[in-house]
Amino acid sequence: MSSTTTSQDLKFDGRALINGKRVDSRDGQLFDCISPVDGRVLTQVARCGAADIDAAVAAARAAFEDRRWSGMAPAQRKRVMIRFADLIQKHGDELAMTETLDMGKPVKYARGVDVNSAANCIRWYGEAVDKVYDEIAPTPSTALALITREPVGVVGVIVPWNYPMIMAAWKIAPALASGNSVVLKPSEKSPLTALRLADLALEAGIPEGVFNVVTGYGPEAGSPLALHMDVDCIAFTGSTRVGKQIHVMAGQSNLKRAWTELGGKSPNIVFADCPNLDKAVEAAVGSIFFNQGESCNAPSRLFVQDSIKERFLEKALALVPGYAPANPTLPGTVMGAIVDQIQMKSVLGYIESGKAEGARLIAGGEQVMAETGGCYVQPTIFDGVKPEMKISREEIFGPVLSVLSFSDAAEAVRLANDSVYGLQAGVWTSDINKAHGVARALRAGTVHVNQYDEDDITVPFGGFKQSGVGRDKSLHAFDKYTETKTTWIRIDSPV
Ligand code: NAD
Repeated sequence: MSSTTTSQDLKFDGRALINGKRVDSRDGQLFDCISPVDGRVLTQVARCGAADIDAAVAAARAAFEDRRWSGMAPAQRKRVMIRFADLIQKHGDELAMTETLDMGKPVKYARGVDVNSAANCIRWYGEAVDKVYDEIAPTPSTALALITREPVGVVGVIVPWNYPMIMAAWKIAPALASGNSVVLKPSEKSPLTALRLADLALEAGIPEGVFNVVTGYGPEAGSPLALHMDVDCIAFTGSTRVGKQIHVMAGQSNLKRAWTELGGKSPNIVFADCPNLDKAVEAAVGSIFFNQGESCNAPSRLFVQDSIKERFLEKALALVPGYAPANPTLPGTVMGAIVDQIQMKSVLGYIESGKAEGARLIAGGEQVMAETGGCYVQPTIFDGVKPEMKISREEIFGPVLSVLSFSDAAEAVRLANDSVYGLQAGVWTSDINKAHGVARALRAGTVHVNQYDEDDITVPFGGFKQSGVGRDKSLHAFDKYTETKTTWIRIDSPV
């Protein structure tokens, strides 16, 4: 499709993809896939359950055991992965518009960020896999100890709806590149691009059975995958609430490896000696409103040093109108629709709680464009937020910024770390000692200094504390999808 792809051009196939074939769920059940853009039903999607998961896992296991993929030379898998990435780019406009219609993000970011990142991720792991060496241990010369990495086997992947293609790519790319078979369950709120990715993987040459996509609800399709006795590893991104259940299910079943990327309530600390206040304001506002605030790493708690708070907020308020929600299928839109009615009501509920607990609403706070049938919320800022308020403690996952103040570095660090989460954090200061000291003291998987948007596939992504277990991205992600094996060889040397 061309860059003129419109929402009317697209036809969707909501059937699952198991063992290389598009199939209905075993019992024929379906669910409506509703667009948050305007409330219309895009298509009906297979409502899979335990029997479908069994079929997908059996296909993945058979593919793994006969080594049709795991037995390929890494250089050959690399070529297939690169073809897969190329096909994602070729179908980029179609995938982007599908994502926009399915979950509401602006099409310009769906194309410019989501499609490009997903393709880049698949290409990067494909390119990496024939360049990673195993090890030989420093043993006495009477023996040789090989330390090799082998694929774990069948990997179950469960992802959320906020970056459907990217979240899937971060897991399927290292898992497939290292020779595993995969069963992916996308969110019931955004199932369509995952299905298309699996079509394109087949077209690229990933053999049948190696990459399966099973659509459906969490308790009906996700739990059977996490509980399955023949799944070796479950890689989950989603809420901390469900993430905890994933670890329980792994323990209750076959002690499969469980990796979780979970929620966040990231602090962003701006000191009075911030090197560029305008940049800090743009980053604070832009990062919380990007993707309608539906980003796990959004800096949703903004800490501004007392002496500059008024000036900071004045500049922030001037930027808010630029984030007015609009139809996300239009090329100029920067703030789209919230994923569905349930999430929108949850966000509006948090806004009500902020008001009720005494925070000062200084921007937004309302649902808008209700006449479209879609789900739109104004970019919202609360000042005067206290650390104990619900809007300061819980992940809202919407376009709502909570502003707090602090007097010195020690107080900033204490307040920032006072959270069950530890995904990311930001620090703005011209003082290199303060930057390093505060960055070290922050309990977060990533700390941003004097910016909040640097990102690359080469660095690990994940959280401390209840933001999850394990890391996506970078070469470290291979650790999640490979077993380490030691092979001892006795050398009875004749010399
Ligand atoms: P969610 O936990 O409700 O759902 C995530 C996935 O889990 C979905 O596919 C869902 O169907 C499935 N699921 C739900 N209940 C299940 C169950 N009982 N058993 C098995 N699977 C089940 O989360 P969400 O609302 O889709 O996504 C938002 C959350 O994801 C936020 O908390 C956000 O912070 C988090 N997230 C984290 C990262 C990260 O990298 N740390 C990235 C993106 C999103």
